[in-house]
Amino acid sequence: MKLNRLSGLGQKRIEKLAGMGIFKLADLMVYFPGRYEWLETDLKNYHENSKNTFQLEVLIESVQQNPKFLQFQGSVDQVPIRIVFFHQSYRKQSILPNQTYRFQGKIQKWHNNLQMVNPILAKEITDERIFLPVYRLSSGITQTMFRRWIRQALKEESVYERDYSPFFGNEFGTHNEALRAIHFPETPSDLERARKRLAAEEAVQYQLAQVLTKQPDRSGIAHQEITLDSLIKQLPFQLTEGQTQSLTEIQKDMSSIHPMYRLLQGDVGSGKTVVAFLAMAVSVLSGHQAAYLAPTEVLANQVYKKAIPFFAQTEIPCVLVTGSTKKKVRTEINERIQSGESLVVFGTHALLSDSLAFGQLSLVVTDEQHRFGVAQRSKLQSKGPAVDVLAMSATPIPRTLALTLFGEMSLSMIHSLPAGRKPIRTYLIGPQKRKDAYGFLEREIEKGHRGFVVCPHIELGEEPEESDPMSIEKLEGEIRHDLLTHTSHTTLHGRMKKDAQDSAMEAFTSGKSPVLLSTTVIEVGIDVPEATVIFIESAERFGLAQLHQLRGRVGRSDRQSYCILICHSKSEKAIERMRVLVESQDGFEIAEKDLRLRGQGNLFGLEQHGTFGFTHLDLAIDLELWEDVRRSIAGMDEKTILSFTTYARRYLDNLKEVGEYDARYSR
Ligand code: ADP
Ligand code: MG
Repeated sequence: MKLNRLSGLGQKRIEKLAGMGIFKLADLMVYFPGRYEWLETDLKNYHENSKNTFQLEVLIESVQQNPKFLQFQGSVDQVPIRIVFFHQSYRKQSILPNQTYRFQGKIQKWHNNLQMVNPILAKEITDERIFLPVYRLSSGITQTMFRRWIRQALKEESVYERDYSPFFGNEFGTHNEALRAIHFPETPSDLERARKRLAAEEAVQYQLAQVLTKQPDRSGIAHQEITLDSLIKQLPFQLTEGQTQSLTEIQKDMSSIHPMYRLLQGDVGSGKTVVAFLAMAVSVLSGHQAAYLAPTEVLANQVYKKAIPFFAQTEIPCVLVTGSTKKKVRTEINERIQSGESLVVFGTHALLSDSLAFGQLSLVVTDEQHRFGVAQRSKLQSKGPAVDVLAMSATPIPRTLALTLFGEMSLSMIHSLPAGRKPIRTYLIGPQKRKDAYGFLEREIEKGHRGFVVCPHIELGEEPEESDPMSIEKLEGEIRHDLLTHTSHTTLHGRMKKDAQDSAMEAFTSGKSPVLLSTTVIEVGIDVPEATVIFIESAERFGLAQLHQLRGRVGRSDRQSYCILICHSKSEKAIERMRVLVESQDGFEIAEKDLRLRGQGNLFGLEQHGTFGFTHLDLAIDLELWEDVRRSIAGMDEKTILSFTTYARRYLDNLKEVGEYDARYSR
């Protein structure tokens, strides 16, 4: 159903919603709250810095009308309070003196009077709530507005209900109940039940896709045993033991007739890219084509640029295909790919498009495998006769989970970092030390080094609050006028046009702008060895694995590097979590601790869930659920499993999945 059925939604806001990935009512329903806030019902709980939303029974005493606004004087248990409406003069008919109404909104102090501006009339809400959803919104859209649309969407539309009882019974209620409760839960246990239902669905979808895409035993390509010595000798460094060992395992797989399906795991900065390049060399020097699939355009570009000098000696050309490759160039490259010319191909999911047929594909490398999910494999496999697959993951996944998620893959590990790397000095600071810390950044820049500043959001919300996480918009002002007055910076985030993103990255890599202010678009893969400092603003908003990834953007040379975590929260729990990072540099150890901390239960909001590409499922909490689902599927015969194919759509239909991935990354 179309969005314009919703009240108060004009063209401008429709565009805003489109920017958030919302095009129809159904999209609205799956735009989940980032967190929840308590609803206060007692005016006694109001204090000057109160940011909470109140729901109050107000006795209306008198009304006053100006051309611009409508103002009611009223009281709550004899405490005077004013209710003010702008642009809602029609309220005059529905709110009458000597009657009591329930209003919901924030309370402000204005000339020593308490007032609520443009509250919602609680009878327009059908039932009582103790907590309210808080969404991540673009500016121009308020929480109140958005909640109203969600309510309306939930009322007017229901999602097609699939029967999941063969997988996990009925204990978590129906899908539609879960959708309603995840937006407007009545109690915390309500919320947990809804989350469980949606998490269980995700477990089923993912595991079904895993079973359905399981490859029949097909013969693959037995690559020639290529000697890589001269390529290895031209490298400016010596391979580490882990790199050499992994390469040996990969070459063995590639020369066998059985298709390779291998996961290369190594902590961030351990040097996986060069191992991948050497594997690709085996493919192209045997006369085939090799493809490298990167999760973002920025990364695809970067890897492509690094590949050119590496492959120069082989005289086999490198090409790049992304969403922003010009049509003419693309057609020409596609023809070369189709003709079977020996090529090293780099790109994003554009490589998966059905219109692109590889003539001689024999190896596919996927970077940041856990973000791509299971199904890419079958899509890629369909592009050649059982091609070899090398997946790479820098997010250290504890072995137990790795087996769960990527059951049938073999594993290569790079355990140690290249020699000479110094541990990254990591500091946790509060907002009061920020200014000094930025001074330190300026001094590093003066030495000719570079620095990243990362923050969680792009823009300020409509109703900015002290507790809001730092945004690019806000920080940019502070940096320019106060924090980094001597240093030029450039900005990078997912909502910028692609060529603007490229030039920002270029300005940073070349050193023209030595500070890069960005969102988590730099989380994966970015390799600028001159960078020695990374600042992470509102660090408490990120997961530990993510912070570890971000930190891995520095410490990529023999210079001393620093990571400054700025924690804006005073919560003990948040601080304890950040400490893990200060104390450890080992990705696997951090992942284990993260799992343990999250496993202790931490349910307010989804911001912390969503690891491994899931929205609701959190393997730290839901491992038992995951196993239950696995047992149910294991007990089904093939025919039954096939009858559930549509359940796995989200993972089988690659393009959609990648689309979701992009939406998540467009922050
Ligand atoms: P990641 O495993 O995180 O993808 P990269 O492949 O980006 O790491 O490598 C990180 C940096 O280390 C790159 O600048 C790369 O050139 C360099 N590097 C890789 N292997 C070695 C090595 N054996 N010795 C020294 N530097 C290396
Ligand atoms: Mg990498």
